[in-house]
Amino acid sequence: MFQKILIANRGEIAVRIIRACREMGIKTVAVYSEADSEALHTLLADEAVCIGPAKSKDSYLNMERILSAAVAMGADAIHPGFGFLSENARFAELCALCRIKFIGPESGVIAKLGNKSEARNTMEAAGVPVVPGGHEPVRDVDEGRVLAEKIGYPVMIKAALGGGGKGMRIVRSGEEFEAGFLNARREAEKAFSDGTMYIEKYIENPRHIEFQILADEHGNAVHLGERDCSVQRHHQKLIEEAPSAALSEKQRERMGETAVRAAKAAGYTNAGTVEFLLDKSGNFYFIEMNTRIQVEHPVTEMITGLDLVKEQIRIAWGEPLRFSQKDIRFSGHAIECRINARMAGTVTGLMLPGGCGVRVDTAMYAGSRIPPDYDAMIIKLIVRGGDRAEAVKKMQCALGELGIEGVETNLEEQYAVFTHPVFEAGPVDTGFMERCFK
Ligand code: ADP
Repeated sequence: MFQKILIANRGEIAVRIIRACREMGIKTVAVYSEADSEALHTLLADEAVCIGPAKSKDSYLNMERILSAAVAMGADAIHPGFGFLSENARFAELCALCRIKFIGPESGVIAKLGNKSEARNTMEAAGVPVVPGGHEPVRDVDEGRVLAEKIGYPVMIKAALGGGGKGMRIVRSGEEFEAGFLNARREAEKAFSDGTMYIEKYIENPRHIEFQILADEHGNAVHLGERDCSVQRHHQKLIEEAPSAALSEKQRERMGETAVRAAKAAGYTNAGTVEFLLDKSGNFYFIEMNTRIQVEHPVTEMITGLDLVKEQIRIAWGEPLRFSQKDIRFSGHAIECRINARMAGTVTGLMLPGGCGVRVDTAMYAGSRIPPDYDAMIIKLIVRGGDRAEAVKKMQCALGELGIEGVETNLEEQYAVFTHPVFEAGPVDTGFMERCFK
């Protein structure tokens, strides 16, 4: 097994990975920016290396510095977590060149799936249903308008390298097309330094259903069921649950088989997520594959009893999967909610909830600084109940107990969602937040 893993990340996911390594007897190296010298991941790891100033591009996105730290500290693998360099094919390639195992798929697979337009084509060729749309990116407004008319309005204009809900516009008519296209492209160029755009049909108020995949380096792949991530704002997930109350057993089986086929078609290894949209008639369509551990992976852990980070490490070490599809059992219902800070600052006081079936993934402690330079998510609250109603109740109680002093957060908004009669009656679609919380 690996002797030492460097964690190229920060915040709760870095802490989550350090814990998994420690339980497996693997030494850990944290990297941290000057803003994170007192951060929990820096304090918890066996060794820690400062890799530069606060700005991500000078620290957590700086490949040379991270690789130098890994070589200097004698790490034999790097876990990238999510965000930062986790889906950077060049970084995975450089790790391989330095003979350091990147805990994730091969760089070529990351590159192929990271381009959503290309990923659609790969999936379509493998018989995976994709949202109706164009096979090639569109070069300009005129070309885009012709394609949009062929697909039929409403359409969704999307950035090929998109992520985080950026570079995306819904266009409902020919008159809106030019403005929508140019705005989406401008946003994509700014966020991803790339203006490659593609167009697909806009599915009205779908459900976002994604399947967790594990694939080893010996050709075995399984799915660990779905997560329903339909509670979103600006196309960004706010709440995730497993299983989805919207799926029948038959649909689950069909979508799960399709997700495994998708992973195999891409030559996928390690943990990944196949994302689908489910329309009102029960049709499902591939939208993208995420080639990393997801923010919402704990809900899958809570209903399968598996530790996904440990599985990632075992797969990266070259072990075959320890189970086949029929060995995977689901029990209960889990929900995660993301607590985001609305400002930078210092958490002066923190009261965390607990109890049976309540899990808190965070790097916060009383006195923690939240620098302005990074993602705003500070706490993931995860609960597991015997069924959805019990899980919702548990989350209401856990949110009621959670106290954060010193910074403003979305805690109250999350409480309002969990006590909203439509959510309580669930499941909801991706239009729920806009309809019920203006
Ligand atoms: P990102 O990579 O930026 O997260 P995704 O392609 O995963 O973007 O889509 C994010 C969300 O945007 C989806 O969960 C869904 O709510 C919405 N979305 C994306 N494509 C479509 C579509 N064709 N029709 C309707 N909604 C869509």
